[in-house]
Amino acid sequence: SGARVRRAQNKRLPQYLERGVDVKFSDVAGLGKIRLELEEIVKFFTHGEMYRRRGVRIPGGILLCGPPGVGKTLLAKAVAGEAGVNFFSISASQFVEIYVGVGASRVRALYQEAKENAPSVVFIDELDAVGRERGLIKGSGGQERDATLNQLLVCLDGFEGRGNVITIASTNRPDILDPALVRPGRFDRKIFIPKPGLIGRMEILQVHARKKPMAEDVDYMAVASMTDGMVGAELANIVEVAAINMIRDGRTEITTDDLLQAAQIEERGMLDRKERSPETWKQVAINEAAMAVVAVNFPDLRNIEFVTIAPRAGRELGYVRMKMDHIKFTKGMLSRQSLLDHITVQLAPRAADELWFGEGQLSTIWSETADNARSAARMFVLGGLSEKHHGLSNFWVADRINEIDSEALQIVNICYERAKEILQQNRKLMDAVVDELVEKKSLTKQEFFGLVELHGSLQPMPPSI
Ligand code: ADP
Repeated sequence: SGARVRRAQNKRLPQYLERGVDVKFSDVAGLGKIRLELEEIVKFFTHGEMYRRRGVRIPGGILLCGPPGVGKTLLAKAVAGEAGVNFFSISASQFVEIYVGVGASRVRALYQEAKENAPSVVFIDELDAVGRERGLIKGSGGQERDATLNQLLVCLDGFEGRGNVITIASTNRPDILDPALVRPGRFDRKIFIPKPGLIGRMEILQVHARKKPMAEDVDYMAVASMTDGMVGAELANIVEVAAINMIRDGRTEITTDDLLQAAQIEERGMLDRKERSPETWKQVAINEAAMAVVAVNFPDLRNIEFVTIAPRAGRELGYVRMKMDHIKFTKGMLSRQSLLDHITVQLAPRAADELWFGEGQLSTIWSETADNARSAARMFVLGGLSEKHHGLSNFWVADRINEIDSEALQIVNICYERAKEILQQNRKLMDAVVDELVEKKSLTKQEFFGLVELHGSLQPMPPSI
């Protein structure tokens, strides 16, 4: 019976092997220069001997850093696919078990399999789940994790420099990893994969369109420019949803419009065909028109892609999509003036409510944007952008909080007056946009700017704070 057991063990299928991984670099779009770095990793497999002869140290581990959905897993698979080697994968959250020793034994089993089936890529998703700096987690869960992490370090060291098993791990938090993990010979090579830019998004859409019946004149650039901030996973989804849309309508080709609609669904949820009274339609239209009309006065915010009052599941209001690509908003470098402009835009719905319905009849339709304005104003003061606190270094001191709030309130008031002023100067434009919105529910960029051209009175205002 001993022989039978042994035979059964020999036949045991590797648990962590992913079969049929057939991804190539051409399936991953928008990589730019990163592709060269990854091609080099493929060469560690295909030309390992050459590297060793020349005394080049082959890394044991490569860290792919970046937000979820940018294609880190896809890239690791593409490395295996291009090199023609086996692909083993595990998510580090699977290592983290309640029972002591389970995580460590999984790591051992994973590497055992990878070695038996070498050459191979071992892919560890969400490395930070197990690789957080030791001592940061207290209690027995922390001990178990340390045991797992130690086992991983042992395994990494076992393959250092051989080039037949290379570990690729992904993380969104390279900054919190245990220093032992990033020591030379372990994960000593970091590759950063950012969210795709405009061209990157267009290329990703095109990659996913390859397998679909696309109309010949599809405008990928239009879709790319409407989806800034989105990652590959979301863009892939847009193409899928567009295909479903086409099938539902009984058509045989996916059009630009299918993609644009799918992009809206990806961003804001399904269209909701709910009934609204004529008054509500108008109120929502005023709300959205006000943001668009004020925004169009500011250089950094005037890039409006569309304005809509079509209701979406789970959302009361409409939506103004501004293109953010060129705003340094997300990079933490927002200029003083654009922050003030942003606050002004967020207060526009409240200002319009007052102007169109009067103080006595204020609704709460603008409460969300007013909240945005409030927190942006606090950010303004805390960031030391206001005159009073310019250069202030100790703004987190507790007794300053009230002072900060009162200063933020002052900024909100000034911006509110500005919003009102702009709306009053643009009453004609407001009325035109509101009427069109109530009638059509959505305005494209061209339609909106057509109205601006006809009725707008744009005057950039001097900074007033
Ligand atoms: P991550 O590992 O960074 O969270 P994934 O690799 O799991 O992201 O991406 C999920 C899916 O999104 C992929 O399978 C692919 O369909 C799509 N995708 C993401 N990034 C890209 C890209 N750069 N090019 C093409 N498709 C992508």
